[in-house]
Amino acid sequence: MTSVSVRDLSAGYGPVRVLDGLDLTVPSGDLLAVLGVSGSGKTTLLRVLAGFLKPTGGEVRFGDRVVAGPGTFVPPERRRVGIVPQEGALFPHLDVSGNVGFGLPRDSQARIDEVLDMVGMREFAHARPHDLSGGQQQRVALARALAPEPEVVLLDEPFTALDATMRVRLRAEVRDLLKELGTTAVLVTHDQEEALSTADLVAVMRDGSLVQVGTPEEVYEAPIDLGVARFVGDAVELTAEPSGSGRVRCVLGEIPVRGGLASPGTVILRPEQLVLSCPVDDSAPGQGVVRETSYRGHDALLQVDLDDGTRIPVRVPGGSPPPRPGERVSVGVTGEARAFPG
Ligand code: ADP
Repeated sequence: MTSVSVRDLSAGYGPVRVLDGLDLTVPSGDLLAVLGVSGSGKTTLLRVLAGFLKPTGGEVRFGDRVVAGPGTFVPPERRRVGIVPQEGALFPHLDVSGNVGFGLPRDSQARIDEVLDMVGMREFAHARPHDLSGGQQQRVALARALAPEPEVVLLDEPFTALDATMRVRLRAEVRDLLKELGTTAVLVTHDQEEALSTADLVAVMRDGSLVQVGTPEEVYEAPIDLGVARFVGDAVELTAEPSGSGRVRCVLGEIPVRGGLASPGTVILRPEQLVLSCPVDDSAPGQGVVRETSYRGHDALLQVDLDDGTRIPVRVPGGSPPPRPGERVSVGVTGEARAFPG
Protein backbone atom coordinates (compact mmCIF):
# COMPACT_ATOMS: atom_id res chain seq x y z
CA MET A 1 0.00 0.00 0.00
CA THR A 2 1.53 3.25 -1.17
CA SER A 3 0.37 6.82 -1.33
CA VAL A 4 1.41 9.02 -4.22
CA SER A 5 2.29 12.64 -3.62
CA VAL A 6 3.76 15.44 -5.65
CA ARG A 7 5.07 18.70 -4.22
CA ASP A 8 5.64 21.88 -6.20
CA LEU A 9 6.05 19.76 -9.30
CA SER A 10 7.06 21.33 -12.60
CA ALA A 11 7.76 19.58 -15.88
CA GLY A 12 7.82 20.23 -19.60
CA TYR A 13 9.46 19.46 -22.90
CA GLY A 14 12.63 21.47 -23.55
CA PRO A 15 11.65 25.13 -23.39
CA VAL A 16 7.91 24.24 -23.19
CA ARG A 17 6.81 24.38 -19.58
CA VAL A 18 3.66 22.30 -19.08
CA LEU A 19 3.21 21.51 -15.38
CA ASP A 20 3.62 24.40 -13.03
CA GLY A 21 3.92 23.97 -9.27
CA LEU A 22 1.55 21.01 -8.75
CA ASP A 23 0.68 19.78 -5.26
CA LEU A 24 -1.31 16.59 -4.93
CA THR A 25 -1.69 13.59 -2.63
CA VAL A 26 -3.41 10.33 -3.47
CA PRO A 27 -3.95 8.37 -0.25
CA SER A 28 -2.93 4.74 -0.29
CA GLY A 29 -5.53 2.56 -2.01
CA ASP A 30 -7.44 5.47 -3.53
CA LEU A 31 -8.23 6.02 -7.18
CA LEU A 32 -7.57 9.56 -8.38
CA ALA A 33 -8.99 10.76 -11.69
CA VAL A 34 -7.07 13.56 -13.38
CA LEU A 35 -9.74 15.35 -15.37
CA GLY A 36 -9.12 18.03 -17.96
CA VAL A 37 -9.56 19.02 -21.58
CA SER A 38 -7.08 17.86 -24.19
CA GLY A 39 -3.76 19.66 -23.82
CA SER A 40 -4.23 20.53 -20.13
CA GLY A 41 -1.22 18.42 -19.08
CA LYS A 42 -2.79 15.16 -17.85
CA THR A 43 -0.54 12.84 -19.84
CA THR A 44 2.51 14.87 -18.89
CA LEU A 45 1.68 14.33 -15.21
CA LEU A 46 1.23 10.61 -15.82
CA ARG A 47 4.60 10.47 -17.61
CA VAL A 48 6.29 12.14 -14.67
CA LEU A 49 4.68 9.67 -12.24
CA ALA A 50 5.73 6.74 -14.43
CA GLY A 51 9.30 8.02 -14.69
CA PHE A 52 9.24 8.59 -18.46
CA LEU A 53 9.78 12.32 -17.97
CA LYS A 54 12.07 13.99 -15.45
CA PRO A 55 10.53 16.88 -13.56
CA THR A 56 12.24 20.24 -13.86
CA GLY A 57 11.35 21.06 -10.27
CA GLY A 58 9.70 19.66 -7.17
CA GLU A 59 9.32 16.14 -5.93
CA VAL A 60 7.38 12.89 -6.48
CA ARG A 61 7.01 10.41 -3.64
CA PHE A 62 5.55 6.91 -3.55
CA GLY A 63 4.86 6.42 0.13
CA ASP A 64 8.03 7.52 1.94
CA ARG A 65 10.19 6.89 -1.10
CA VAL A 66 11.28 9.89 -3.18
CA VAL A 67 11.19 8.65 -6.79
CA ALA A 68 11.97 12.02 -8.38
CA GLY A 69 13.35 15.15 -6.79
CA PRO A 70 16.50 17.22 -6.49
CA GLY A 71 19.38 14.78 -6.98
CA THR A 72 17.10 11.73 -7.14
CA PHE A 73 15.60 9.94 -10.11
CA VAL A 74 14.30 6.37 -9.90
CA PRO A 75 13.90 4.94 -13.43
CA PRO A 76 10.49 3.54 -14.50
CA GLU A 77 11.47 -0.13 -14.14
CA ARG A 78 12.35 0.39 -10.47
CA ARG A 79 9.23 2.36 -9.51
CA ARG A 80 6.84 -0.58 -9.26
CA VAL A 81 4.23 1.10 -11.42
CA GLY A 82 1.83 -0.68 -13.73
CA ILE A 83 0.66 1.23 -16.78
CA VAL A 84 -2.58 0.69 -18.69
CA PRO A 85 -2.34 2.65 -21.94
CA GLN A 86 -5.10 3.83 -24.24
CA GLU A 87 -5.42 1.03 -26.74
CA GLY A 88 -3.50 -1.15 -29.15
CA ALA A 89 -0.59 -1.52 -26.77
CA LEU A 90 -0.45 -5.34 -26.81
CA PHE A 91 2.26 -7.14 -28.77
CA PRO A 92 0.42 -8.52 -31.83
CA HIS A 93 2.78 -11.50 -32.28
CA LEU A 94 2.38 -12.74 -28.70
CA ASP A 95 -0.72 -14.49 -27.35
CA VAL A 96 -2.57 -13.20 -24.29
CA SER A 97 -0.45 -15.25 -21.91
CA GLY A 98 2.75 -14.06 -23.60
CA ASN A 99 1.63 -10.44 -23.39
CA VAL A 100 0.87 -10.70 -19.69
CA GLY A 101 4.10 -12.56 -18.97
CA PHE A 102 6.30 -10.20 -20.96
CA GLY A 103 9.10 -9.00 -18.71
CA LEU A 104 8.20 -11.39 -15.87
CA PRO A 105 10.61 -14.10 -14.67
CA ARG A 106 10.37 -17.42 -16.57
CA ASP A 107 8.55 -19.30 -13.81
CA SER A 108 5.62 -16.88 -13.67
CA GLN A 109 2.88 -19.03 -15.24
CA ALA A 110 0.93 -19.27 -11.96
CA ARG A 111 0.95 -15.48 -11.63
CA ILE A 112 -0.09 -15.05 -15.27
CA ASP A 113 -3.03 -17.43 -14.74
CA GLU A 114 -3.95 -15.62 -11.54
CA VAL A 115 -4.14 -12.15 -13.11
CA LEU A 116 -5.97 -13.51 -16.17
CA ASP A 117 -8.51 -14.97 -13.74
CA MET A 118 -8.83 -11.59 -12.04
CA VAL A 119 -9.76 -9.88 -15.30
CA GLY A 120 -11.90 -12.79 -16.56
CA MET A 121 -9.60 -13.63 -19.48
CA ARG A 122 -8.14 -17.01 -18.48
CA GLU A 123 -10.00 -18.87 -21.24
CA PHE A 124 -8.39 -16.55 -23.81
CA ALA A 125 -4.82 -17.27 -22.67
CA HIS A 126 -3.80 -18.54 -26.10
CA ALA A 127 -5.72 -16.04 -28.21
CA ARG A 128 -3.90 -13.37 -30.20
CA PRO A 129 -4.76 -9.69 -29.57
CA HIS A 130 -6.37 -9.29 -33.03
CA ASP A 131 -8.90 -12.02 -32.14
CA LEU A 132 -10.10 -10.06 -29.11
CA SER A 133 -12.64 -7.23 -28.80
CA GLY A 134 -11.47 -3.79 -27.64
CA GLY A 135 -12.79 -4.48 -24.14
CA GLN A 136 -11.00 -7.83 -23.95
CA GLN A 137 -7.76 -6.25 -25.11
CA GLN A 138 -8.00 -3.65 -22.36
CA ARG A 139 -8.63 -6.42 -19.82
CA VAL A 140 -5.40 -8.05 -20.98
CA ALA A 141 -3.58 -4.70 -20.77
CA LEU A 142 -4.83 -4.40 -17.17
CA ALA A 143 -3.69 -7.96 -16.38
CA ARG A 144 -0.26 -7.13 -17.80
CA ALA A 145 -0.04 -4.00 -15.66
CA LEU A 146 -1.06 -5.92 -12.52
CA ALA A 147 1.10 -9.00 -13.08
CA PRO A 148 4.30 -7.68 -11.40
CA GLU A 149 2.26 -6.62 -8.33
CA PRO A 150 2.75 -2.87 -8.78
CA GLU A 151 2.35 -0.45 -5.90
CA VAL A 152 0.78 2.13 -8.18
CA VAL A 153 -1.31 1.69 -11.34
CA LEU A 154 -1.45 4.49 -13.92
CA LEU A 155 -4.29 4.40 -16.43
CA ASP A 156 -4.07 6.63 -19.50
CA GLU A 157 -7.59 7.06 -20.93
CA PRO A 158 -7.93 3.26 -21.04
CA PHE A 159 -11.64 3.18 -21.90
CA THR A 160 -11.78 5.92 -24.55
CA ALA A 161 -11.80 3.63 -27.59
CA LEU A 162 -14.58 1.37 -26.25
CA ASP A 163 -18.26 1.61 -27.09
CA ALA A 164 -20.48 3.24 -24.46
CA THR A 165 -21.84 0.06 -22.87
CA MET A 166 -18.46 -1.63 -22.62
CA ARG A 167 -16.88 1.57 -21.32
CA VAL A 168 -19.32 1.79 -18.42
CA ARG A 169 -19.01 -1.91 -17.62
CA LEU A 170 -15.24 -2.11 -17.80
CA ARG A 171 -14.59 0.99 -15.75
CA ALA A 172 -16.79 -0.38 -12.96
CA GLU A 173 -14.96 -3.71 -13.12
CA VAL A 174 -11.54 -2.06 -13.11
CA ARG A 175 -12.50 0.12 -10.18
CA ASP A 176 -13.79 -2.89 -8.21
CA LEU A 177 -10.64 -4.88 -8.94
CA LEU A 178 -8.29 -2.06 -7.93
CA LYS A 179 -10.28 -1.59 -4.72
CA GLU A 180 -10.12 -5.31 -3.96
CA LEU A 181 -6.36 -5.29 -4.46
CA GLY A 182 -5.96 -2.03 -2.52
CA THR A 183 -3.82 -0.60 -5.30
CA THR A 184 -3.32 3.16 -5.49
CA ALA A 185 -4.27 4.33 -8.96
CA VAL A 186 -4.23 7.44 -11.12
CA LEU A 187 -6.65 7.57 -14.05
CA VAL A 188 -6.29 10.20 -16.74
CA THR A 189 -9.55 11.10 -18.47
CA HIS A 190 -11.31 13.94 -20.27
CA ASP A 191 -14.68 12.30 -19.53
CA GLN A 192 -16.46 13.97 -16.61
CA GLU A 193 -18.89 11.13 -16.08
CA GLU A 194 -16.05 8.63 -15.99
CA ALA A 195 -14.15 10.69 -13.42
CA LEU A 196 -17.20 11.26 -11.20
CA SER A 197 -18.42 7.67 -11.31
CA THR A 198 -15.07 5.90 -10.95
CA ALA A 199 -12.78 7.93 -8.71
CA ASP A 200 -12.42 8.50 -4.98
CA LEU A 201 -10.80 11.84 -5.76
CA VAL A 202 -10.98 14.05 -8.82
CA ALA A 203 -8.19 16.47 -9.72
CA VAL A 204 -9.36 19.05 -12.26
CA MET A 205 -6.48 20.23 -14.44
CA ARG A 206 -6.36 23.39 -16.52
CA ASP A 207 -3.36 24.80 -18.40
CA GLY A 208 -0.88 22.67 -16.46
CA SER A 209 -2.23 23.53 -13.02
CA LEU A 210 -4.61 21.76 -10.67
CA VAL A 211 -7.59 24.02 -10.16
CA GLN A 212 -9.49 21.80 -7.74
CA VAL A 213 -8.92 18.46 -6.03
CA GLY A 214 -11.78 16.87 -4.14
CA THR A 215 -14.25 14.05 -3.95
CA PRO A 216 -16.59 13.69 -6.93
CA GLU A 217 -19.36 15.25 -4.81
CA GLU A 218 -17.18 18.23 -3.91
CA VAL A 219 -16.17 19.09 -7.46
CA TYR A 220 -19.73 18.63 -8.74
CA GLU A 221 -21.63 20.32 -5.92
CA ALA A 222 -19.05 22.88 -4.82
CA PRO A 223 -16.98 23.76 -7.91
CA ILE A 224 -14.28 26.25 -7.10
CA ASP A 225 -14.96 28.49 -10.10
CA LEU A 226 -17.27 28.86 -13.07
CA GLY A 227 -14.87 26.93 -15.32
CA VAL A 228 -14.96 23.86 -13.10
CA ALA A 229 -18.74 24.17 -12.69
CA ARG A 230 -19.18 24.16 -16.46
CA PHE A 231 -16.69 21.38 -17.05
CA VAL A 232 -17.85 18.77 -14.54
CA GLY A 233 -21.52 18.72 -15.50
CA ASP A 234 -24.41 20.62 -17.02
CA ALA A 235 -24.68 23.99 -15.34
CA VAL A 236 -27.57 26.46 -15.25
CA GLU A 237 -26.00 29.93 -15.00
CA LEU A 238 -28.13 32.82 -13.79
CA THR A 239 -27.27 36.38 -12.89
CA ALA A 240 -28.13 37.10 -9.28
CA GLU A 241 -27.93 39.75 -6.60
CA PRO A 242 -27.70 39.36 -2.84
CA SER A 243 -30.98 39.51 -0.92
CA GLY A 244 -30.24 39.02 2.74
CA SER A 245 -28.18 36.41 4.48
CA GLY A 246 -27.52 33.27 2.51
CA ARG A 247 -30.00 34.11 -0.24
CA VAL A 248 -29.93 35.65 -3.69
CA ARG A 249 -32.56 37.00 -6.05
CA CYS A 250 -32.56 35.70 -9.61
CA VAL A 251 -35.03 34.95 -12.40
CA LEU A 252 -36.15 31.82 -10.51
CA GLY A 253 -37.03 33.85 -7.39
CA GLU A 254 -35.24 34.14 -4.08
CA ILE A 255 -33.12 31.06 -3.52
CA PRO A 256 -30.62 29.88 -0.90
CA VAL A 257 -26.98 30.04 -1.90
CA ARG A 258 -24.03 28.23 -0.40
CA GLY A 259 -21.49 30.63 1.08
CA GLY A 260 -23.59 33.73 0.29
CA LEU A 261 -22.95 36.46 -2.26
CA ALA A 262 -21.70 39.94 -1.29
CA SER A 263 -22.27 41.70 -4.61
CA PRO A 264 -24.10 40.96 -7.88
CA GLY A 265 -22.72 37.85 -9.58
CA THR A 266 -23.57 34.51 -11.13
CA VAL A 267 -25.23 31.52 -9.52
CA ILE A 268 -24.96 27.95 -10.72
CA LEU A 269 -27.63 25.30 -10.36
CA ARG A 270 -27.53 21.75 -11.67
CA PRO A 271 -30.42 20.80 -13.99
CA GLU A 272 -31.68 18.20 -11.50
CA GLN A 273 -32.15 20.99 -8.92
CA LEU A 274 -34.86 22.51 -11.07
CA VAL A 275 -38.39 21.26 -10.55
CA LEU A 276 -40.78 21.58 -13.44
CA SER A 277 -44.52 22.05 -13.01
CA CYS A 278 -46.89 21.50 -15.89
CA PRO A 279 -49.60 22.80 -15.72
CA VAL A 280 -48.06 26.02 -14.47
CA ASP A 281 -47.81 26.73 -10.75
CA ASP A 282 -48.89 30.39 -10.69
CA SER A 283 -47.04 31.12 -7.45
CA ALA A 284 -43.65 30.07 -8.92
CA PRO A 285 -41.52 33.05 -10.02
CA GLY A 286 -39.87 31.14 -12.87
CA GLN A 287 -42.25 30.64 -15.78
CA GLY A 288 -41.61 29.93 -19.42
CA VAL A 289 -42.10 27.76 -22.47
CA VAL A 290 -40.48 24.42 -23.37
CA ARG A 291 -38.41 24.87 -26.54
CA GLU A 292 -36.79 21.45 -26.95
CA THR A 293 -37.21 18.04 -25.39
CA SER A 294 -34.42 15.50 -25.58
CA TYR A 295 -35.76 12.13 -24.39
CA ARG A 296 -33.05 9.85 -22.98
CA GLY A 297 -34.98 6.95 -21.43
CA HIS A 298 -33.97 7.31 -17.79
CA ASP A 299 -34.62 11.04 -18.00
CA ALA A 300 -35.30 13.84 -20.46
CA LEU A 301 -33.39 17.10 -20.86
CA LEU A 302 -35.60 20.05 -21.71
CA GLN A 303 -34.58 23.50 -22.86
CA VAL A 304 -36.93 26.03 -21.30
CA ASP A 305 -37.14 29.68 -22.37
CA LEU A 306 -38.08 31.71 -19.29
CA ASP A 307 -40.30 34.76 -19.79
CA ASP A 308 -37.32 37.13 -19.41
CA GLY A 309 -35.59 35.38 -22.33
CA THR A 310 -33.14 33.23 -20.32
CA ARG A 311 -32.82 29.70 -21.69
CA ILE A 312 -32.18 27.00 -19.07
CA PRO A 313 -31.74 23.21 -19.23
CA VAL A 314 -34.04 21.21 -16.91
CA ARG A 315 -33.72 17.50 -16.26
CA VAL A 316 -36.96 15.62 -15.64
CA PRO A 317 -37.06 11.98 -14.52
CA GLY A 318 -38.25 9.31 -16.93
CA GLY A 319 -41.37 7.27 -16.29
CA SER A 320 -43.95 9.69 -17.65
CA PRO A 321 -43.97 11.62 -20.91
CA PRO A 322 -42.04 14.91 -20.58
CA PRO A 323 -43.74 18.22 -21.49
CA ARG A 324 -43.66 18.91 -25.23
CA PRO A 325 -42.16 21.89 -27.01
CA GLY A 326 -44.56 24.84 -26.83
CA GLU A 327 -46.06 23.88 -23.45
CA ARG A 328 -45.99 26.46 -20.68
CA VAL A 329 -44.24 25.36 -17.49
CA SER A 330 -43.12 26.82 -14.20
CA VAL A 331 -39.72 26.13 -12.71
CA GLY A 332 -38.91 25.89 -9.00
CA VAL A 333 -35.58 25.24 -7.27
CA THR A 334 -34.53 22.64 -4.71
CA GLY A 335 -31.33 22.79 -2.68
CA GLU A 336 -28.73 25.53 -2.66
CA ALA A 337 -27.17 27.35 -5.56
CA ARG A 338 -23.45 28.02 -5.77
CA ALA A 339 -22.45 31.65 -6.22
CA PHE A 340 -19.53 33.28 -7.98
CA PRO A 341 -18.93 37.02 -7.66
CA GLY A 342 -18.55 39.34 -10.62
P1 ADP B 1 -3.36 16.11 -22.12
O1 ADP B 1 -2.92 14.74 -21.74
O2 ADP B 1 -4.17 16.79 -21.07
O3 ADP B 1 -4.05 16.14 -23.47
P2 ADP B 1 -0.55 16.66 -22.55
O4 ADP B 1 0.13 16.44 -21.25
O5 ADP B 1 -0.44 15.60 -23.58
O6 ADP B 1 -2.08 17.05 -22.27
O7 ADP B 1 0.00 18.01 -23.20
C1 ADP B 1 0.12 19.22 -22.47
C2 ADP B 1 0.86 20.23 -23.32
O8 ADP B 1 2.18 19.77 -23.58
C3 ADP B 1 0.20 20.49 -24.66
O9 ADP B 1 0.29 21.85 -24.94
C4 ADP B 1 1.07 19.70 -25.62
O10 ADP B 1 1.11 20.31 -26.88
C5 ADP B 1 2.44 19.75 -24.96
N1 ADP B 1 3.22 18.54 -25.27
C6 ADP B 1 2.87 17.26 -25.06
N2 ADP B 1 3.83 16.40 -25.45
C7 ADP B 1 4.83 17.16 -25.94
C8 ADP B 1 6.13 16.89 -26.49
N3 ADP B 1 6.58 15.64 -26.61
N4 ADP B 1 6.87 17.94 -26.88
C9 ADP B 1 6.45 19.22 -26.76
N5 ADP B 1 5.23 19.55 -26.23
C10 ADP B 1 4.44 18.55 -25.83
